Amino acid sequence: MNMNVDSQEISKFEALAHRWWDPEGDFRPLHDINPVRLDYIVDKLPLAGVTAVDVGCGGGILAEAMAMAGARVTGLDMAESPLAVARLHALDSGAEVDYLASTAEDFAAQRAGEFDLVTCLEMLEHVPEPASTIAACADLARSGGHLMFSTINRNPKSYLLAVVGAEYVLGLLPKGTHDYQKFITPAELAGAVRDAGLEVVEIIGMRYNPFTRNCSLGKDVDVNYLLYARKP
Ligand code: SAH
Repeated sequence: MNMNVDSQEISKFEALAHRWWDPEGDFRPLHDINPVRLDYIVDKLPLAGVTAVDVGCGGGILAEAMAMAGARVTGLDMAESPLAVARLHALDSGAEVDYLASTAEDFAAQRAGEFDLVTCLEMLEHVPEPASTIAACADLARSGGHLMFSTINRNPKSYLLAVVGAEYVLGLLPKGTHDYQKFITPAELAGAVRDAGLEVVEIIGMRYNPFTRNCSLGKDVDVNYLLYARKP
C-alpha cells in the first residue's frame, strides 16, 4: 500500500461528498471550471476511444465529462464517499466510468504504461508528496501519452484569492479546504514533471471569477493553472 495520503485531507472530502454534484454547493467552482478544462484537454487530444485515468477524481465531475466525450475512463480516489457518490451519479447519467479506491502509486504498480491520457486536476495540493504522485502518473501513461496536471500557485495573491477570498470572505469553499503551504509554483511543478521523465508542453493560467462564474485560460498563472505534458 502506498502511503502518499494525508488522512486529514481525505476526511475533508469524505465529509463533503454528498454535495459533490450540487452546482450551487461546495464544489461549485469545479462545476464552473469543468467545461473550460475539458475543452482544453479535448483540444490537445480528441477523446473518442482514448483510455484515460483520472487521479483524484472525487465525485467524478471531470471523469464523467471525459467519458461522455468518448474516453474509457478509470477514476481513482482515496476517499470512499466521493467514489460512492461518483458511482451513483454515473448510474443516473449513464456515463461509463470505472471508479477505484487507489492511489496513483498503487495503480501504477499494476497498470503502468497503459493510458493514453492521465489527468490529475486540483489534487496535487492535497497530497504529502506531490512528486511521488506525478511520478506515478508518468508511469501510468504509455509512451507518447498525454498528461494534464492542475493546481494552485503559491504567492501572496493566491493566498489572498484562493484561501482568504474563496474560503473566508466569499464562503465559496469550506474553510480549511486549501492549505497555503501545499500550493505549488509552476516552476516546482515543471521541475517535478521533468524529474518524472516527462516533457512540459505548456503551462497555462486559469482565471475564475466567482461573481460572474466565468472561467478562462490565458497567460495569468498567478492563482490557478494547468500544465500539459507528454511522455517521450
Ligand atoms: N480532480 C477532481 C477532484 C478534485 S478534489 C476535480 O478536479 O474535479 C481532490 C480529490 O483528491 C479529492 O477527491 C480527494 O479525496 C482526492 N485525493 C486526495 N489525496 C489523494 C490521494 N493520495 N490519492 C488519491 N486521491 C486523493
